[in-house]
Amino acid sequence: MSVSLGEPSRPLRVAIVGSGPSGFYAAEALQKTDLAVQIDVFDRLPTPFGLVRGGVAPDHPKIKNVTRVYEKIASRDGFGFFGNVTIGRDVPIEMLREYYDATILCYGAETDRRLGIPGEDLPGSHTATAFVGWYNGHPDYREHEFDLSAEVAAVVGQGNVAADVARILAKSVDELRATDIAAHALDALAESRVREVHVIGRRGPAQAKFTPPELREFGRLESCVATVEGAIELSPTSAAEVEGSKDLQKNIATLEGYAANDAAGASREVRFRFLESPVAIEGDGRVERLVLERNRLEGDAGRQRAVPTGEHVTLDCGLVFRSIGYRGIALPGVPFDDRWGGIPNTAGRVTDGDTVVPGLYAAGWIKRGPSGVVGTNKPDAVETVRCLLEDLPTLTPCATPDSAPLARHLASRGLRVVSYDDWRRIDAAEIARGTAAGKPREKGTSVDELLGFLDA
Ligand SMILES: Cc1cc2nc3c(=O)[nH]c(=O)nc-3n(C[C@H](O)[C@H](O)[C@H](O)COP(=O)(O)OP(=O)(O)OC[C@H]3O[C@@H](n4cnc5c(N)ncnc54)[C@H](O)[C@@H]3O)c2cc1C
Repeated sequence: MSVSLGEPSRPLRVAIVGSGPSGFYAAEALQKTDLAVQIDVFDRLPTPFGLVRGGVAPDHPKIKNVTRVYEKIASRDGFGFFGNVTIGRDVPIEMLREYYDATILCYGAETDRRLGIPGEDLPGSHTATAFVGWYNGHPDYREHEFDLSAEVAAVVGQGNVAADVARILAKSVDELRATDIAAHALDALAESRVREVHVIGRRGPAQAKFTPPELREFGRLESCVATVEGAIELSPTSAAEVEGSKDLQKNIATLEGYAANDAAGASREVRFRFLESPVAIEGDGRVERLVLERNRLEGDAGRQRAVPTGEHVTLDCGLVFRSIGYRGIALPGVPFDDRWGGIPNTAGRVTDGDTVVPGLYAAGWIKRGPSGVVGTNKPDAVETVRCLLEDLPTLTPCATPDSAPLARHLASRGLRVVSYDDWRRIDAAEIARGTAAGKPREKGTSVDELLGFLDA
């Protein structure tokens, strides 16, 4: 007997791996169809929302309001949350196929690209991911230590994540106290001796990836002055790039303002540097200096690349933060493209060579790479779900259309699965703790601590 997936008698069953923005937008797109659907969202953490909780900077609270939309999605019938479950470890991907008709992989890009230079792993050289995770209370980075006793720090990279890292280093503790920054990070930042933060880009001011508001924010910091190393000079090709983009025009105007600033007497300085690539991190047992090679730009407008000139400069610094992009991590049993660090796919249908893998889909950063803001993941997830719906007549219905045996399997492994109601209790406990401390929330920063809220 053939089965019609999506009928009230046999709802379409979809597993979503990852509860970041793309996972929630994929769930929402499925909810907007006329089909009967059961959506179970899995996350390796006991908490939902991915980088909205663990990436977005604590001093940008408005962006986190998007979780209200996710709350609504989670409140609808047919939505299940399996927090504290790592797909690929606790549940092999093949097992999901037994209980779900389709799986959408939305598990983000959680590791960093490497610079590939000597000294990259010296103490004092950190990834932006680790620093961001640490100040945001992500359990993976709770035990990470940041020695902030150096006066000079270098941030390598000129995107918004690099801007977040530089701004958190440059802000006074009073500017951060009333945010949801993790308590351990606030304590360490209160003792920070960092006075100068150099933000280094391999290309020029016209190619920096900051969005205009994020760059402008450096002009409004309480006790920090933003400056530029040297003058803002644009080649005719770069000037043409700026001419064609309102955002670039804004950024150049902002940087010209910073170039006119004088940091003398300021307690902190953020200095933007351009056309320099790190070639080595040096020091006796820990970071003492960053060796940079000067670059020039070559190529057509919009496609200019940095070409080394052979001229070197040295920046004495005790801290280096590498912020040059994220990569996804391969999941056992799922095709992976090691060149760009994501899942090969066509419009969200996972592919293995030239073949589409039936019933397997991807959305968000693991689908398209680590680019775009939270909202970018919505049309991206909608595109993926559209493919899934087109494929509906050809999907093989799963053998066991029921979530209960899977829940039993997890319990038999001693796993404490966090439901969405459990998360609401964790949420309430964090908010209560925060209220007592004059903050929007005081996060649990380890899995044990988060699960402990459920036993209180
Ligand atoms: C530091 C930083 C700051 C940012 N700031 C902003 C900002 O201010 N404004 C803005 O609009 N955008 C910002 N972004 C971009 C935005 O966060 C991303 O576009 C968005 O989070 C990507 O969504 P995603 O769902 O693909 O991945 P993610 O948000 O990374 O979600 C992936 C989820 O998958 C889970 N997961 C991973 N592996 C597994 C597994 N094996 N099993 C189960 N679950 C798993 C993770 O725990 C996570 O919850 C920022 C990004 C970063 C890195």
